[in-house]
Amino acid sequence: MTTREECQDLDARDPLAGLRDEFVLTPGEIYLDGNSLGPVSHGVQRRVSEVIDREWAQGLVRSWNAAKWMEAPLSLGDRVAPLIGARAGEVLVADTLTFLLAKIIGGSLELRPERHVIITDAVNFHSDLYIVAAMARLVGRDIVVKTIDRDTLDEHLDEDVALVMLTHVDFRTGEMLDMSRITRAVHEVGALMLWDFAHSTGAVPLDVTSADVDFAAGCGYKYLNGGPGAPAFMYVAPRWQGVLRNPLPGWLGHARPFDFESTYESAPGMRAYVTSSPSVIALGALGGALEVFERTTMDAIRTKSLALTDLFIELVEEALPGVFELATPRAHDKRGSQVALRHPNGYGIIQALIERGVTGDFRAPDICRFGFAPLYLRYVDVYDAVQILADVMLSCAHLDAKYALRLAVT
Ligand SMILES: *Cc1c(COP(=O)(O)O)cnc(C)c1O
Repeated sequence: MTTREECQDLDARDPLAGLRDEFVLTPGEIYLDGNSLGPVSHGVQRRVSEVIDREWAQGLVRSWNAAKWMEAPLSLGDRVAPLIGARAGEVLVADTLTFLLAKIIGGSLELRPERHVIITDAVNFHSDLYIVAAMARLVGRDIVVKTIDRDTLDEHLDEDVALVMLTHVDFRTGEMLDMSRITRAVHEVGALMLWDFAHSTGAVPLDVTSADVDFAAGCGYKYLNGGPGAPAFMYVAPRWQGVLRNPLPGWLGHARPFDFESTYESAPGMRAYVTSSPSVIALGALGGALEVFERTTMDAIRTKSLALTDLFIELVEEALPGVFELATPRAHDKRGSQVALRHPNGYGIIQALIERGVTGDFRAPDICRFGFAPLYLRYVDVYDAVQILADVMLSCAHLDAKYALRLAVT
């Protein structure tokens, strides 16, 4: 069994250890929920004050040009690009994830006008399921959305399929899918592939270029730490730029927005997918949050992420044998950066942990979800979190009647 001293030793040798100081963390709290909302970093604080106090307060309307606010959705996209294996000019930062999915789904259905099937995962995130169904209805021809067991995807792939939309790391279990293999299978029947990277970006290395992905999108507020409601990002492969239309066009995606023309003509490149005014303060926050990623590599983050999740699984199984069912795959190539433990009293367990300074979250019906963000978590945090979890379980603190009522955000 790994001891606390051994964990301290791992921290002392951790090449990412210095980055923890870049974050504003509450002393005494072990934050295992960066997969839901990442913490504030000093980069965010600096950049947001700069946007407000200098660019907005002093520059006022001049800052649209002088501070390059109009360029921010594209220049930030260029900074997200290396995290997903894309190149400059292939990523846009805008809106929030569900809106970007809508744009890609709506646009891609026009690219396969003779096909009428969209495939997605029956246990996909609910927002993805709602928006794909709504876009299918709006397109105005008979589109069928098939929600399948993703393990049976190959059986459903045929010449009727226009688009396959999958989330790369399952938000409940943390299972990671094989992006290259699935994209290849989808392309073999002439369909298009859209990946949702909500739980992947900033957590696992991604390579949309070598996997030949058509489209992808992800959140800014999870592992990227861009702040609550941070703008999202979308990737469009170069072969589809200028071809994929934005089904929600607005003035700032026009080729000449300040000519105020009454008919729409799309801007070239990724700017085509801009609809309306960029959220400049929020973009500033995300820009500040990306600074810390620019001081390391996704490979270094991945190495530590696997070590942290391995350690958590090992310690939980030793301290609490048979108490939980592990919902996260043990195989490294099938695991994202979270560990999900199933337990019928999951909600009470998470609430009892939060009261004791360990923040995770609960996902109905029975999942206790723990996210491991290598930029600011220490090995010793994993050790201490498991001790506290063992304490909760052995004292039955999670069965307290006060946890019978659920809060609005779990
Ligand atoms: C978090 C998450 C979303 C949320 O999208 P927003 O529209 O940005 O709130 C969508 N899809 C998945 C898979 C997610 O994990």
